Amino acid sequence: MKRKKTVLAVAAHADDLEFMAAGTVARFVDEFDYNVYEYILTDNSKGSYRLSPQTLIEVSAREAGEAGVLLGLREVRLEGYRDGRLNEVHPNVLRDKVMAFIREVKADIIMSWDPFAPYEDHPDHRMTGMAALEAAAFSGNPLFHPGHANPPRPVTEAYWFAKHPMNAELFVDISATIDKKIAALLAHDCQMVLTVDALLQEAQTLGVELPMLENLDDNGHKDLIAAGVRRWCAELGEPRGMAFAEQFRYEKLGMLDRVFGTDFVKPDVIQ
Ligand SMILES: [Zn+2]
Repeated sequence: MKRKKTVLAVAAHADDLEFMAAGTVARFVDEFDYNVYEYILTDNSKGSYRLSPQTLIEVSAREAGEAGVLLGLREVRLEGYRDGRLNEVHPNVLRDKVMAFIREVKADIIMSWDPFAPYEDHPDHRMTGMAALEAAAFSGNPLFHPGHANPPRPVTEAYWFAKHPMNAELFVDISATIDKKIAALLAHDCQMVLTVDALLQEAQTLGVELPMLENLDDNGHKDLIAAGVRRWCAELGEPRGMAFAEQFRYEKLGMLDRVFGTDFVKPDVIQ
């Protein structure tokens, strides 16, 4: 019988978790009965080529809630910092907020963008990952942010999102949850429209004709995203004997195993 763990996933934007980790999160919930919480730090107000920032804030918040229900999350909390401007918030303030959430829910596992991933272009992802790492690394120390309502709580595991296999060493089999991952991703409808708009813009810039990107009907963007995600997750899984996979840099945050040469901390998702 595995210990029931609590997970805090810290995202910069509404659909980060679904793109990078929803298949793994679905396994956490369905297979291990973990409590999973999501914390989205920005207001997603740059996530469209079509909608106004104010409309986007409202629509993306609603869609994030719907995706959270599909995945069985305990809560989706939005902090509402301006999209693309997270680097205007002091790092200690971000750390304070994430650490308070860790202590509130007694998190065992942190998930977020990899704070040390090379070639990460998005400033919000870099800020989010570093805040998550610092908060998780020191949340057991009572002298860090001593004003919190809840007691210190050490986090023992981290699943850092990896965009490239070269930054990953943990590949999680999501063959049983790929459909749920795609359903959760498609719940972020305005973000999926953005993704297809960005693809179309890129194709037009390159002067290449991709008829499947043009004149999409109402559900056309969904079919494209579903096929693209299936292709990506199959590519990750194929060399590892899995139908579909997600990738992470997995890290033990505590010292116990290192000091005693034990193996108490390990990812439940690999048997
Ligand atoms: Zn993002």
